[in-house]
Amino acid sequence: MLKTDCLKGPGFHERLLRLVYPEKCIFCEAILPETAKISTCGSCYACLPRYGRGFERAPRIPWINGLFASFIYEDSVEQAIQAMKFFGRPRAAWTFAFLMWEELNKHPLMPDFDLIVPVPMHRRKRMSRGYNQSERVGQALGRFLNIPVVDALAKTRHTKPQSLSSREERLKNLENSIRVPDPSVVGGLNILLVDDVVTTGATLSTCAQALHEAGASWIFAAVIAIAGK
Ligand SMILES: [Zn+2]
Repeated sequence: MLKTDCLKGPGFHERLLRLVYPEKCIFCEAILPETAKISTCGSCYACLPRYGRGFERAPRIPWINGLFASFIYEDSVEQAIQAMKFFGRPRAAWTFAFLMWEELNKHPLMPDFDLIVPVPMHRRKRMSRGYNQSERVGQALGRFLNIPVVDALAKTRHTKPQSLSSREERLKNLENSIRVPDPSVVGGLNILLVDDVVTTGATLSTCAQALHEAGASWIFAAVIAIAGK
């Protein structure tokens, strides 16, 4: 259930700030009214490449009991996710979480989750970027879904960028790179892993394996977008 204070819209100070620094659509940069609740204009919102399915079995992603994707990773969604990752747009994380929450609510057979766990980032990368986008999306989604969010996973080894690797190379690269520092926070719980994009699923699978080994019960994953469809 949505916490009632989540979507009240911007407060007085935020609206004043927006008169000076106008809020823009995360997809097309159109200037939005200062009362806008999410950072999306009407025409982008109408044309989003929604994936349109509920939680699906993902046989190619071991350890994951079900996968939910809100959008197809293409065009404006791809650009906005890239901007959120590399140009630090915290409002984009909030907006994406809202849009994910909307898509999740279209599929009433959503499992019951005890905990949201964001996909971790190595601390060195987090320090250079200043934030972990999956953590920001996960925290906002936790507020919308009213589910606690815990950074239960730690990336213990810096792995090379994965965008050009094959699935096998990705898995090899990620081996033993993610762990659960305190298994007592996930033991027996149903977990919703949150990440920005799924491509081969190697990262989600590695995270889910670590959570299983730490005693978690069911592990589902929700991503903003799915690539390669
Ligand atoms: Zn727009």
